[in-house]
Amino acid sequence: MVEVAIGITGVAGRMGLALVRRIVQMPGCRLAGGVDRKDSPAQGRDIGELAGFGSCGILVGDDALPLFAGVDVVIDFTSPSALKMHTDLAAQSKTALVVGTTGLEEAHLAMLTQAAKHVAIVQSFNMSLGVNLLAGMVRQAAAQLNEEWDIEILEMHHRMKVDSPSGTALLLGEAAAKGRGRNLAEIADRGRDGLCGPRRAGEIGFASLRGGNVVGDHTVIFAADDERIEISHKASDRGLFARGAVQAALWVKGRKPGLYRMSDVLGFSS
Ligand code: NAD
Repeated sequence: MVEVAIGITGVAGRMGLALVRRIVQMPGCRLAGGVDRKDSPAQGRDIGELAGFGSCGILVGDDALPLFAGVDVVIDFTSPSALKMHTDLAAQSKTALVVGTTGLEEAHLAMLTQAAKHVAIVQSFNMSLGVNLLAGMVRQAAAQLNEEWDIEILEMHHRMKVDSPSGTALLLGEAAAKGRGRNLAEIADRGRDGLCGPRRAGEIGFASLRGGNVVGDHTVIFAADDERIEISHKASDRGLFARGAVQAALWVKGRKPGLYRMSDVLGFSS
């Protein structure tokens, strides 16, 4: 069997190192390289040592160009500011890309759509099977329950998280909005503070908590008069997301250009 050669951008980050640990355990793929920011203290260090399993002879690099040119698939968990460079390189080199980075705005989503005309890209704000299954359940519940049921999405993450609401909360909000046949941007309330007045009928509210080392908790609440439904997902180890991202990398190799979701990888697109 020919192994899929995987490169990682943001290799020295929390997710980058979780990906390294996953790839080395996983049959059918091999770690072919990794890069991080030029000013990262991890520059030049052995990736295996950083990931805690001993030297593997692959050092953290600072140039994404040869990385994209030399692998089958790149997995990106970095920051929104790096996305343009990585989507451009993927499109030029025709190297498939898996993007897990969150905090993406409309302009970033447009970059992904543009690059996906030339190369296969899987993008998801959450790579876990559980959350993608939850999204399907939320969509279905939102379609069944009328606007007398208020939808609120609560998330908690570790103290280092920089974007809010989490990408997963937005993914779940999208699912709820789709269920109601609405556009999330028009009905989202992304934070209440002060005298903000009563809740607008039909809006989808978001609330974010930050603290400790929480990997990712999400609850979607459907609240009506006298009753409430709550559906939750709790992630306890980011290895979970690494597992999904590597599964996506194996799935996307050789696909025709296009923008794919984790639901495509998992086989439950609706
Ligand atoms: P982190 O800060 O620990 O790691 C990010 C790494 O990217 C750092 O090492 C940083 O130096 C590097 N980086 C930044 N800009 C770069 C560039 N231009 N080139 C190369 N490297 C660059 O963060 P993290 O916890 O690993 O999370 C990374 C991203 O993944 C965040 O957006 C986070 O929200 C997201 N995330 C997504 C999922 C998912 O399932 N989709 C799960 C967990 C985290």
